[in-house]
Amino acid sequence: MHELSLLTGVVQAVSTQDATQEALRTGATVEAVGLKVGRRSGVVIEALTAAWPIASSGTCCENARLEIEDVPATIWCANCVAEQEIDEFFALLCPVCGHPTAEMRQGKEFALTWIEVASGEPSPPATPQSAT
Ligand SMILES: [Zn+2]
Repeated sequence: MHELSLLTGVVQAVSTQDATQEALRTGATVEAVGLKVGRRSGVVIEALTAAWPIASSGTCCENARLEIEDVPATIWCANCVAEQEIDEFFALLCPVCGHPTAEMRQGKEFALTWIEVASGEPSPPATPQSAT
């Protein structure tokens, strides 16, 4: 599975980060991992979510949450002089005026954006703030 091998790469990237190694030395664990996934990156978010427990099993990321930022695909239209959001399956045409463009602004991302590590000490539960 394509997504599984991508996640294996993510886990490797997380485990080699200085911050992660420092945290693991002090008995901390990786709490959550943030990814940025563009809609035209060819990666299926549902498949990533499904593959995460398998990819993280037995690694420093075991039991960590996977949080995915879904990045819409946009192009720059020289005709509209504006950035326009395109549907993931559309050709590179401006959705507003139909002007062809080859200039994708975003949507191809697949990147590890952040890592959250918990300290070895149990953290106090968050106190819910009552609105009353
Ligand atoms: Zn346009």
